[in-house]
Amino acid sequence: MNRIDLKSVVTYLDTEYPVMLAESWDNVGLLVGDFSAAVGVIMTCLTITPEVCEESVAKKVDLIVSHHPFPFQAIKRITSQTVEGSMLLRLISHGIAVYSPHTAHDSAKDGVNQQLAAILELSDVTPLNANNSGRIGNRKQSGTLLSGVLQIIERRLGACSYVGEINKPINRIAIGCGSADDFIDEASKQGADVLLLGEARFHACLRAQSLQLALILPGHFASEHFAMKTLAQKIATQFPTISCFPSESEQDVIKRYDNTSEMTSKKCEQLKSSPPC
Ligand SMILES: [Zn+2]
Repeated sequence: MNRIDLKSVVTYLDTEYPVMLAESWDNVGLLVGDFSAAVGVIMTCLTITPEVCEESVAKKVDLIVSHHPFPFQAIKRITSQTVEGSMLLRLISHGIAVYSPHTAHDSAKDGVNQQLAAILELSDVTPLNANNSGRIGNRKQSGTLLSGVLQIIERRLGACSYVGEINKPINRIAIGCGSADDFIDEASKQGADVLLLGEARFHACLRAQSLQLALILPGHFASEHFAMKTLAQKIATQFPTISCFPSESEQDVIKRYDNTSEMTSKKCEQLKSSPPC
């Protein structure tokens, strides 16, 4: 395996996910790292958590490309007395750099929102907002109901919540991965029948309902996590001599309670404990 300069990887990522696409409040680019370091192993993830941090140490990762920025807020001290400080110390002591494309990745030409538009089979896709964020487009296939769109999303991203009438015809769809419920008014203004978001606040859901805009809410994690695999493949294609893979340890922190699977496992336990007849 050939190692390459961290600087070359950063230059490539900065070109693909330019800072001008990122929101003004965001913190994107190389956030931890020595530009002169060499990189042989890259891991992509949605968020750097203690589990992801340990995985990167175990797999001898040189660079984590984390969708969500780490660190995000300005910090005044880096000590082992905070979770954030401990993770930063651990990453730095193992020479692990961190790059975050965040909202530039959401809005990029092949970014998270564009990939969601492809999953939903949209044509005439354009950014929803003037600063290139979000997407809006028309379903290639006409006559789909909200239930049909929910089925597509459930198949690709997992179970989701929704707002609206299940039999509502859906032709025009707006998209905003992650926490983007501030897109509701613009989506409605541009004639969307439904807006796919990662998550939305209760009062934002009521606002959407009052505008007769349906919402599809697969969860923040599900709306973005799938794109970390695509991101790893893209980096691996650009730098074929090094290793690049998505994190295997990260999971959605929000679990869905499934009564049927609990019943099934209880039944299995009962069957195991009951004497054979
Ligand atoms: Zn996010």
